Amino acid sequence: MSGTHFGFDTLKVRGGYNPRDHNYAVSVPIYQTASFELGDTDRVERLLRFDEEGYLYTRMGNPTVTVLEKRVAALDGGSGAIAVASGMAAITYTLFSVAEGGGRILTTPHLYGGTVDSFKRIYPRFGVGIDLVEDPNDPEAFRRGITPETRAIFIESISNPNATLLDIRQIANVAHENSIPLIVDNTFATPYLLNPLKHGADIVVYSATKALGGHGNVIGGVIVEGGTFDWANGKFPQFTEPHFLLRDDAGQERSFLELAPQSPFTLRVRLTYLIYFGAVLSPFDAYLLLQGIETLSERVQKQVATTEKIVRYLEKNEAVAWVSHPAAKESPYRDLAEKYFPKGAGSTFTFGFNGTDQQLDIFINSVKLFSYQANVGDSRSLIINPPKTTHGELTPEELDVAGIPPETIRLSLGLEDPNDLIADLAQAFTKASCEVA
Ligand SMILES: *Cc1c(COP(=O)(O)O)cnc(C)c1O
Repeated sequence: MSGTHFGFDTLKVRGGYNPRDHNYAVSVPIYQTASFELGDTDRVERLLRFDEEGYLYTRMGNPTVTVLEKRVAALDGGSGAIAVASGMAAITYTLFSVAEGGGRILTTPHLYGGTVDSFKRIYPRFGVGIDLVEDPNDPEAFRRGITPETRAIFIESISNPNATLLDIRQIANVAHENSIPLIVDNTFATPYLLNPLKHGADIVVYSATKALGGHGNVIGGVIVEGGTFDWANGKFPQFTEPHFLLRDDAGQERSFLELAPQSPFTLRVRLTYLIYFGAVLSPFDAYLLLQGIETLSERVQKQVATTEKIVRYLEKNEAVAWVSHPAAKESPYRDLAEKYFPKGAGSTFTFGFNGTDQQLDIFINSVKLFSYQANVGDSRSLIINPPKTTHGELTPEELDVAGIPPETIRLSLGLEDPNDLIADLAQAFTKASCEVA
Protein backbone atom coordinates (compact mmCIF):
# COMPACT_ATOMS: atom_id res chain seq x y z
CA MET A 1 0.00 0.00 0.00
CA SER A 2 1.61 3.22 -1.07
CA GLY A 3 -0.62 4.99 -3.64
CA THR A 4 -1.02 8.73 -3.38
CA HIS A 5 -4.82 8.36 -3.24
CA PHE A 6 -4.77 7.42 0.44
CA GLY A 7 -4.94 10.05 3.16
CA PHE A 8 -2.12 10.67 5.63
CA ASP A 9 -3.77 8.76 8.48
CA THR A 10 -4.28 5.68 6.30
CA LEU A 11 -0.68 5.75 5.08
CA LYS A 12 0.72 6.12 8.59
CA VAL A 13 -0.75 2.76 9.66
CA ARG A 14 -0.63 0.87 6.34
CA GLY A 15 1.78 2.61 3.95
CA GLY A 16 4.58 0.56 2.40
CA TYR A 17 3.24 -2.77 3.64
CA ASN A 18 1.20 -5.56 2.06
CA PRO A 19 0.48 -8.47 4.46
CA ARG A 20 0.25 -10.87 1.47
CA ASP A 21 3.99 -10.47 0.95
CA HIS A 22 4.69 -11.44 4.57
CA ASN A 23 2.65 -14.58 5.34
CA TYR A 24 -0.41 -12.36 5.94
CA ALA A 25 1.10 -11.02 9.17
CA VAL A 26 -0.98 -8.04 10.31
CA SER A 27 1.83 -6.37 12.26
CA VAL A 28 5.05 -5.79 10.25
CA PRO A 29 7.35 -8.75 11.07
CA ILE A 30 10.82 -8.15 12.49
CA TYR A 31 13.28 -9.77 10.08
CA GLN A 32 15.96 -10.25 12.71
CA THR A 33 18.59 -11.69 10.41
CA ALA A 34 22.03 -10.50 9.37
CA SER A 35 22.00 -12.24 6.03
CA PHE A 36 19.71 -13.85 3.45
CA GLU A 37 19.94 -17.10 1.52
CA LEU A 38 21.08 -16.35 -1.98
CA GLY A 39 19.12 -19.19 -3.60
CA ASP A 40 21.32 -20.17 -6.50
CA THR A 41 24.22 -18.67 -8.42
CA ASP A 42 21.96 -17.35 -11.19
CA ARG A 43 19.80 -15.55 -8.68
CA VAL A 44 22.75 -13.85 -7.00
CA GLU A 45 23.86 -12.63 -10.44
CA ARG A 46 20.43 -11.11 -11.01
CA LEU A 47 20.41 -9.49 -7.56
CA LEU A 48 23.85 -7.96 -8.05
CA ARG A 49 22.86 -6.63 -11.52
CA PHE A 50 19.67 -5.12 -9.99
CA ASP A 51 17.57 -7.24 -12.37
CA GLU A 52 15.71 -8.74 -9.42
CA GLU A 53 14.68 -7.12 -6.15
CA GLY A 54 15.78 -8.98 -3.06
CA TYR A 55 17.94 -8.97 0.02
CA LEU A 56 21.54 -10.07 0.51
CA TYR A 57 22.77 -8.66 3.79
CA THR A 58 21.07 -6.39 6.35
CA ARG A 59 23.69 -3.64 6.01
CA MET A 60 22.42 -3.16 2.42
CA GLY A 61 18.73 -3.59 3.15
CA ASN A 62 16.23 -5.49 5.29
CA PRO A 63 12.49 -6.09 4.74
CA THR A 64 11.42 -4.53 8.07
CA VAL A 65 13.56 -1.47 7.38
CA THR A 66 12.17 -1.29 3.83
CA VAL A 67 8.61 -0.93 5.16
CA LEU A 68 9.73 1.99 7.33
CA GLU A 69 11.45 3.61 4.34
CA LYS A 70 8.39 3.22 2.12
CA ARG A 71 6.07 4.45 4.84
CA VAL A 72 7.99 7.64 5.57
CA ALA A 73 8.42 8.28 1.82
CA ALA A 74 4.62 7.94 1.44
CA LEU A 75 3.93 10.31 4.36
CA ASP A 76 6.19 12.98 2.87
CA GLY A 77 5.25 12.46 -0.79
CA GLY A 78 8.81 11.37 -1.61
CA SER A 79 10.02 9.19 -4.49
CA GLY A 80 12.38 7.25 -2.21
CA ALA A 81 13.71 7.07 1.33
CA ILE A 82 16.48 5.40 3.25
CA ALA A 83 16.60 4.69 6.98
CA VAL A 84 19.87 4.95 8.93
CA ALA A 85 21.03 4.46 12.52
CA SER A 86 20.55 8.06 13.76
CA GLY A 87 19.56 11.57 12.82
CA MET A 88 23.24 12.53 12.77
CA ALA A 89 23.95 9.76 10.24
CA ALA A 90 21.02 11.01 8.11
CA ILE A 91 22.41 14.55 8.09
CA THR A 92 26.05 13.59 7.53
CA TYR A 93 25.35 11.03 4.78
CA THR A 94 23.06 13.51 3.01
CA LEU A 95 25.39 16.48 3.18
CA PHE A 96 28.52 14.47 2.32
CA SER A 97 26.63 13.00 -0.65
CA VAL A 98 26.14 16.43 -2.19
CA ALA A 99 29.33 18.19 -1.03
CA GLU A 100 31.98 15.43 -0.98
CA GLY A 101 35.26 16.40 -2.61
CA GLY A 102 35.50 20.09 -1.69
CA GLY A 103 31.91 21.35 -1.78
CA ARG A 104 30.33 23.80 0.65
CA ILE A 105 26.99 23.86 2.50
CA LEU A 106 25.14 27.12 3.12
CA THR A 107 23.18 27.07 6.37
CA THR A 108 21.90 29.15 9.31
CA PRO A 109 22.97 29.50 12.97
CA HIS A 110 19.59 28.09 14.07
CA LEU A 111 20.45 24.39 14.27
CA TYR A 112 20.60 21.38 16.58
CA GLY A 113 23.77 21.54 18.76
CA GLY A 114 25.26 18.32 17.39
CA THR A 115 24.85 19.64 13.86
CA VAL A 116 26.58 22.92 14.79
CA ASP A 117 29.50 21.08 16.45
CA SER A 118 30.01 18.68 13.54
CA PHE A 119 29.79 21.52 11.00
CA LYS A 120 32.44 23.47 12.85
CA ARG A 121 34.84 20.76 13.95
CA ILE A 122 34.34 17.61 11.84
CA TYR A 123 33.13 18.50 8.34
CA PRO A 124 36.15 20.72 7.49
CA ARG A 125 38.43 17.74 8.19
CA PHE A 126 36.61 15.89 5.42
CA GLY A 127 36.96 18.80 3.01
CA VAL A 128 33.35 19.96 3.32
CA GLY A 129 33.04 23.69 4.04
CA ILE A 130 30.21 25.38 5.92
CA ASP A 131 28.97 28.95 5.36
CA LEU A 132 26.41 30.73 7.55
CA VAL A 133 23.90 33.25 6.19
CA GLU A 134 24.03 36.58 8.02
CA ASP A 135 20.26 36.80 8.43
CA PRO A 136 18.18 33.61 8.14
CA ASN A 137 14.99 35.72 8.09
CA ASP A 138 16.01 37.28 4.75
CA PRO A 139 15.86 34.96 1.70
CA GLU A 140 18.12 37.43 -0.15
CA ALA A 141 20.84 36.72 2.43
CA PHE A 142 20.82 33.11 1.19
CA ARG A 143 21.37 34.34 -2.38
CA ARG A 144 24.32 36.43 -1.23
CA GLY A 145 25.80 33.49 0.69
CA ILE A 146 26.11 31.17 -2.30
CA THR A 147 29.59 30.58 -3.75
CA PRO A 148 30.64 28.56 -6.85
CA GLU A 149 31.45 25.65 -4.48
CA THR A 150 28.09 25.67 -2.66
CA ARG A 151 26.36 22.33 -3.22
CA ALA A 152 23.26 22.68 -1.04
CA ILE A 153 21.31 24.90 1.33
CA PHE A 154 20.54 23.20 4.65
CA ILE A 155 17.89 24.46 7.10
CA GLU A 156 15.72 23.21 9.97
CA SER A 157 12.01 23.72 9.22
CA ILE A 158 11.33 24.37 12.92
CA SER A 159 14.65 25.08 14.58
CA ASN A 160 16.12 23.44 17.66
CA PRO A 161 15.77 24.79 20.34
CA ASN A 162 13.92 28.10 19.71
CA ALA A 163 11.27 26.92 17.20
CA THR A 164 12.16 29.67 14.72
CA LEU A 165 10.74 29.41 11.18
CA LEU A 166 11.92 30.30 7.66
CA ASP A 167 10.29 31.02 4.33
CA ILE A 168 10.99 27.58 2.87
CA ARG A 169 9.50 28.29 -0.59
CA GLN A 170 11.61 31.39 -1.13
CA ILE A 171 14.78 29.68 0.06
CA ALA A 172 14.01 26.75 -2.30
CA ASN A 173 13.72 29.23 -5.15
CA VAL A 174 17.15 30.66 -4.34
CA ALA A 175 18.62 27.14 -4.25
CA HIS A 176 17.07 26.17 -7.58
CA GLU A 177 18.14 29.39 -9.31
CA ASN A 178 21.67 28.29 -8.38
CA SER A 179 21.16 24.65 -9.47
CA ILE A 180 21.58 23.27 -5.95
CA PRO A 181 19.11 21.36 -3.74
CA LEU A 182 17.38 22.58 -0.60
CA ILE A 183 17.83 20.06 2.22
CA VAL A 184 15.49 20.37 5.21
CA ASP A 185 15.85 18.85 8.67
CA ASN A 186 12.15 18.30 9.44
CA THR A 187 12.66 16.58 12.81
CA PHE A 188 10.57 18.95 14.97
CA ALA A 189 7.72 19.21 12.44
CA THR A 190 7.39 15.55 11.39
CA PRO A 191 5.55 14.80 8.11
CA TYR A 192 2.28 15.40 9.98
CA LEU A 193 2.86 19.14 10.46
CA LEU A 194 4.88 19.83 7.29
CA ASN A 195 5.83 18.13 4.04
CA PRO A 196 8.87 20.20 2.96
CA LEU A 197 8.93 18.54 -0.51
CA LYS A 198 5.56 20.19 -1.25
CA HIS A 199 7.13 23.59 -0.57
CA GLY A 200 10.11 23.16 -2.88
CA ALA A 201 12.59 21.20 -0.75
CA ASP A 202 14.50 18.43 -2.56
CA ILE A 203 15.63 16.25 0.33
CA VAL A 204 14.25 15.89 3.85
CA VAL A 205 16.14 14.43 6.80
CA TYR A 206 14.81 13.26 10.15
CA SER A 207 16.04 12.32 13.52
CA ALA A 208 13.41 9.57 13.88
CA THR A 209 14.55 9.39 17.51
CA LYS A 210 12.33 12.38 18.23
CA ALA A 211 8.63 12.92 17.41
CA LEU A 212 8.53 10.51 14.45
CA GLY A 213 9.16 7.50 16.72
CA GLY A 214 7.70 9.49 19.58
CA HIS A 215 8.37 7.22 22.55
CA GLY A 216 11.97 7.95 23.46
CA ASN A 217 13.01 4.32 22.93
CA VAL A 218 14.99 4.30 19.64
CA ILE A 219 17.85 6.18 17.97
CA GLY A 220 17.20 6.36 14.23
CA GLY A 221 17.22 8.58 11.15
CA VAL A 222 15.51 8.79 7.76
CA ILE A 223 16.40 10.53 4.50
CA VAL A 224 13.60 11.22 1.97
CA GLU A 225 14.10 12.46 -1.58
CA GLY A 226 11.64 14.35 -3.74
CA GLY A 227 12.64 12.88 -7.09
CA THR A 228 12.48 16.13 -9.07
CA PHE A 229 15.93 17.70 -8.61
CA ASP A 230 18.12 17.69 -11.75
CA TRP A 231 21.28 15.89 -10.62
CA ALA A 232 22.56 16.00 -14.23
CA ASN A 233 22.99 19.78 -14.21
CA GLY A 234 26.79 19.53 -14.16
CA LYS A 235 27.39 20.27 -10.47
CA PHE A 236 26.93 16.67 -9.29
CA PRO A 237 28.99 14.29 -11.45
CA GLN A 238 28.75 11.64 -8.70
CA PHE A 239 25.21 10.91 -9.95
CA THR A 240 26.01 10.72 -13.67
CA GLU A 241 29.39 8.94 -13.62
CA PRO A 242 29.58 5.15 -14.09
CA HIS A 243 29.76 3.40 -10.71
CA PHE A 244 31.59 0.15 -9.98
CA LEU A 245 28.66 -1.46 -8.17
CA LEU A 246 26.20 -0.79 -10.97
CA ARG A 247 27.39 -3.19 -13.70
CA ASP A 248 24.91 -4.54 -16.22
CA ASP A 249 24.84 -8.02 -17.88
CA ALA A 250 27.69 -7.04 -20.18
CA GLY A 251 29.81 -5.83 -17.25
CA GLN A 252 29.25 -2.20 -18.28
CA GLU A 253 29.11 0.28 -15.36
CA ARG A 254 26.02 2.47 -15.11
CA SER A 255 25.31 5.68 -13.16
CA PHE A 256 22.92 6.14 -10.23
CA LEU A 257 20.75 8.36 -12.39
CA GLU A 258 20.57 5.71 -15.12
CA LEU A 259 19.69 2.89 -12.76
CA ALA A 260 17.26 4.79 -10.53
CA PRO A 261 15.99 7.91 -12.33
CA GLN A 262 13.26 8.46 -9.69
CA SER A 263 15.42 7.97 -6.60
CA PRO A 264 19.12 8.29 -7.48
CA PHE A 265 19.91 10.09 -4.22
CA THR A 266 18.72 7.44 -1.79
CA LEU A 267 20.20 4.63 -3.90
CA ARG A 268 23.54 6.40 -3.85
CA VAL A 269 23.41 6.94 -0.08
CA ARG A 270 22.69 3.21 0.28
CA LEU A 271 25.46 2.00 -2.01
CA THR A 272 28.16 4.43 -0.86
CA TYR A 273 27.65 5.81 2.63
CA LEU A 274 25.38 3.19 4.20
CA ILE A 275 27.16 0.07 3.03
CA TYR A 276 30.71 1.38 3.48
CA PHE A 277 30.36 3.71 6.49
CA GLY A 278 27.80 1.37 7.99
CA ALA A 279 25.38 3.30 10.26
CA VAL A 280 22.60 0.82 9.58
CA LEU A 281 19.23 0.81 11.40
CA SER A 282 18.40 -2.50 13.07
CA PRO A 283 15.20 -4.35 12.07
CA PHE A 284 13.95 -4.19 15.65
CA ASP A 285 14.46 -0.42 15.82
CA ALA A 286 12.67 -0.06 12.46
CA TYR A 287 9.78 -2.02 13.96
CA LEU A 288 9.59 0.30 17.00
CA LEU A 289 9.64 3.34 14.72
CA LEU A 290 6.83 1.86 12.59
CA GLN A 291 4.80 1.29 15.74
CA GLY A 292 5.40 4.90 16.83
CA ILE A 293 4.37 6.29 13.43
CA GLU A 294 0.99 4.52 13.65
CA THR A 295 -0.11 7.17 16.18
CA LEU A 296 1.86 10.13 14.78
CA SER A 297 -1.15 12.37 14.01
CA GLU A 298 -2.92 11.67 17.28
CA ARG A 299 0.20 12.30 19.36
CA VAL A 300 1.29 15.45 17.57
CA GLN A 301 -2.25 16.92 17.63
CA LYS A 302 -2.41 16.51 21.39
CA GLN A 303 1.13 17.82 21.90
CA VAL A 304 0.42 20.91 19.79
CA ALA A 305 -2.79 21.58 21.78
CA THR A 306 -0.85 21.23 25.06
CA THR A 307 1.84 23.57 23.70
CA GLU A 308 -0.81 26.25 23.06
CA LYS A 309 -1.91 25.98 26.74
CA ILE A 310 1.59 26.02 28.20
CA VAL A 311 2.63 28.96 26.01
CA ARG A 312 -0.41 30.92 27.30
CA TYR A 313 0.50 29.98 30.89
CA LEU A 314 4.14 31.02 30.51
CA GLU A 315 3.25 34.29 28.77
CA LYS A 316 1.39 35.58 31.79
CA ASN A 317 3.97 34.38 34.31
CA GLU A 318 6.22 37.02 35.89
CA ALA A 319 9.06 34.55 36.27
CA VAL A 320 9.20 34.26 32.46
CA ALA A 321 11.07 36.91 30.45
CA TRP A 322 10.11 35.70 26.97
CA VAL A 323 8.56 32.72 25.16
CA SER A 324 10.00 31.56 21.82
CA HIS A 325 7.30 29.60 19.97
CA PRO A 326 5.33 30.73 16.90
CA ALA A 327 2.12 30.43 18.99
CA ALA A 328 3.39 33.13 21.39
CA LYS A 329 1.61 36.48 21.03
CA GLU A 330 4.86 38.40 20.46
CA SER A 331 6.40 35.85 18.08
CA PRO A 332 7.86 37.33 14.87
CA TYR A 333 7.02 34.01 13.17
CA ARG A 334 3.21 34.15 13.37
CA ASP A 335 2.80 34.87 9.62
CA LEU A 336 5.16 32.10 8.57
CA ALA A 337 3.40 29.75 10.99
CA GLU A 338 0.06 30.57 9.37
CA LYS A 339 1.51 29.90 5.91
CA TYR A 340 3.46 26.70 6.59
CA PHE A 341 2.12 25.29 9.87
CA PRO A 342 -1.68 25.58 9.95
CA LYS A 343 -1.80 22.50 12.24
CA GLY A 344 0.71 23.98 14.70
CA ALA A 345 4.46 24.59 14.84
CA GLY A 346 5.50 21.69 17.03
CA SER A 347 5.74 21.11 20.75
CA THR A 348 9.40 21.86 21.50
CA PHE A 349 10.35 25.47 22.26
CA THR A 350 12.17 27.72 24.70
CA PHE A 351 11.43 30.39 27.26
CA GLY A 352 13.62 32.83 29.18
CA PHE A 353 13.81 32.32 32.93
CA ASN A 354 13.48 35.65 34.71
CA GLY A 355 15.88 35.27 37.64
CA THR A 356 19.43 34.51 38.71
CA ASP A 357 21.50 31.53 37.52
CA GLN A 358 21.02 29.99 40.95
CA GLN A 359 17.24 30.38 40.74
CA LEU A 360 17.27 28.81 37.30
CA ASP A 361 19.09 25.78 38.70
CA ILE A 362 16.59 25.53 41.56
CA PHE A 363 13.74 25.70 39.05
CA ILE A 364 15.19 22.85 36.93
CA ASN A 365 15.95 20.78 40.03
CA SER A 366 12.43 21.29 41.40
CA VAL A 367 10.30 19.98 38.52
CA LYS A 368 8.90 16.58 39.38
CA LEU A 369 6.88 15.56 36.33
CA PHE A 370 9.08 16.94 33.54
CA SER A 371 12.14 14.74 32.93
CA TYR A 372 15.45 16.59 32.89
CA GLN A 373 17.11 15.16 29.79
CA ALA A 374 18.46 15.91 26.31
CA ASN A 375 15.85 14.23 24.11
CA VAL A 376 12.76 15.84 22.53
CA GLY A 377 9.52 14.56 20.96
CA ASP A 378 8.93 11.92 23.63
CA SER A 379 5.51 10.88 24.93
CA ARG A 380 6.77 12.24 28.27
CA SER A 381 7.40 15.96 28.82
CA LEU A 382 11.05 16.98 29.00
CA ILE A 383 12.98 20.00 30.23
CA ILE A 384 16.57 21.13 29.76
CA ASN A 385 18.88 24.16 29.96
CA PRO A 386 20.43 24.22 26.42
CA PRO A 387 23.31 26.69 27.05
CA LYS A 388 24.90 24.21 29.45
CA THR A 389 23.90 20.95 27.73
CA THR A 390 22.63 20.43 24.15
CA HIS A 391 24.33 23.61 22.94
CA GLY A 392 27.13 23.54 25.54
CA GLU A 393 29.94 23.41 22.96
CA LEU A 394 28.99 26.78 21.47
CA THR A 395 31.09 29.81 22.45
CA PRO A 396 29.29 32.75 24.14
CA GLU A 397 29.36 34.58 20.77
CA GLU A 398 27.90 31.57 18.94
CA LEU A 399 25.18 31.21 21.58
CA ASP A 400 24.37 34.86 21.01
CA VAL A 401 24.16 34.41 17.21
CA ALA A 402 22.06 31.27 17.73
CA GLY A 403 19.66 33.23 19.98
CA ILE A 404 20.31 31.11 23.08
CA PRO A 405 21.02 33.48 26.01
CA PRO A 406 22.05 32.02 29.41
CA GLU A 407 18.48 32.17 30.80
CA THR A 408 17.13 29.81 28.08
CA ILE A 409 15.07 26.78 29.13
CA ARG A 410 13.75 24.29 26.56
CA LEU A 411 10.53 22.32 26.97
CA SER A 412 9.39 19.35 24.90
CA LEU A 413 5.77 18.61 25.69
CA GLY A 414 4.49 15.07 25.91
CA LEU A 415 1.15 13.38 26.33
CA GLU A 416 0.44 13.97 30.05
CA ASP A 417 -2.54 15.96 31.31
CA PRO A 418 -1.63 19.60 30.53
CA ASN A 419 -3.01 20.74 33.91
CA ASP A 420 -0.54 18.46 35.68
CA LEU A 421 2.28 19.95 33.59
CA ILE A 422 1.23 23.50 34.46
CA ALA A 423 0.97 22.60 38.16
CA ASP A 424 4.47 21.11 38.03
CA LEU A 425 5.95 24.25 36.45
CA ALA A 426 4.04 26.44 38.95
CA GLN A 427 5.41 24.66 42.03
CA ALA A 428 8.96 24.81 40.59
CA PHE A 429 8.64 28.57 39.89
CA THR A 430 7.46 29.05 43.48
CA LYS A 431 10.42 27.10 44.89
CA ALA A 432 12.88 29.05 42.73
CA SER A 433 11.49 32.42 43.85
CA CYS A 434 11.29 31.52 47.58
CA GLU A 435 14.62 29.87 48.18
CA VAL A 436 16.71 32.81 47.07
CA ALA A 437 14.59 35.63 48.49
C1 LIG B 1 18.23 15.20 17.77
C2 LIG B 1 18.35 15.93 16.50
C3 LIG B 1 19.26 15.50 15.53
C4 LIG B 1 20.19 14.34 15.76
O1 LIG B 1 19.47 13.14 15.77
P1 LIG B 1 19.97 11.79 16.53
O2 LIG B 1 18.90 10.82 16.20
O3 LIG B 1 20.09 12.12 17.98
O4 LIG B 1 21.29 11.44 15.91
C5 LIG B 1 19.30 16.20 14.35
N1 LIG B 1 18.51 17.28 14.12
C6 LIG B 1 17.62 17.72 15.04
C7 LIG B 1 16.77 18.91 14.74
C8 LIG B 1 17.52 17.07 16.27
O5 LIG B 1 16.65 17.52 17.18
